[in-house]
Amino acid sequence: MRVVVATHNAHKVAELQRILGAHVPDLELLPYDGPAPVEDGDSFAANALIKARAAAAHTGLAAIADDSGISADALGGAPGIHSAYFSGERDDAANVRHLLSRLAALGADVDRTARFTCAAALVDPAETVDGAAFETVEVGVWPGRVALEPAGGGGFGYDPVFVPEGLAITSAEISAEHKNAISHRALAFAALAEVLRARAAR
Ligand code: IMP
Repeated sequence: MRVVVATHNAHKVAELQRILGAHVPDLELLPYDGPAPVEDGDSFAANALIKARAAAAHTGLAAIADDSGISADALGGAPGIHSAYFSGERDDAANVRHLLSRLAALGADVDRTARFTCAAALVDPAETVDGAAFETVEVGVWPGRVALEPAGGGGFGYDPVFVPEGLAITSAEISAEHKNAISHRALAFAALAEVLRARAAR
C-alpha cells in the first residue's frame, strides 16, 4: 500500500513509517513535494484535510496529513490552530514566552489547563464515496496544563511548558519513546493506522 505524506519534513515521514508501519506491514510512505495549499480551515481537522486533499489531488495517490497545536482553556482555546505562529513568528521559544505571558496577564490563580490536539487525515482517490474521494479524520487529544516556566530539553514547540495529566514533569522532560506512546499525535495516528489496516486487509 503506497501512501504519500503531506509534509516537507523527512523526519515526520520516518516517524510515521514507524508508527503506521507497525500496524500496516506492507505500507510504503512517500514524501510529498508538491505545492503546499493555503491552510485556511477553522479547525485542526479541516486543515489536516486541506493538506491531505492537496497531496492526493496532485499525486493521484492516497495521502495522509496532520495538523496539531496546543489549546489553553483560560485563553478560550488559543493558540489552537495558530500555535505555530502565536507570537507572530514561527519561533518555538518566542511562542512559549507569549503563551506564558498571556496566561500571566490573567492573574496568579489563572486556570492553566490545556491540551495538545492532533488531527490525522486520510484521503484516498482510489475509492469514491458519492463521487468524491474517500476521506477520514482521526483526532487525538492529550490533556494537561501549562507550567509556570519552561523545563526540559527534549521535544519541540510547547513541550517545555506542557505538563501532561498524571505527570509532574513537562513533555520536554520525558523520553521521546514515552512521548511517542502517549501523545496526541500517537493517539491520532494509532486510530488512522486502524483505518489503513482495515483498508489494506480488504
Ligand atoms: P504542525 O502540526 O506542524 O502545524 O504544528 C503546529 C504547532 O503546534 C507546532 O509548531 C508546535 O508549536 C505545536 N505543537 C504541535 N505538536 C506539538 C508537540 O507534540 N509538542 C510541542 N508543540 C507541538
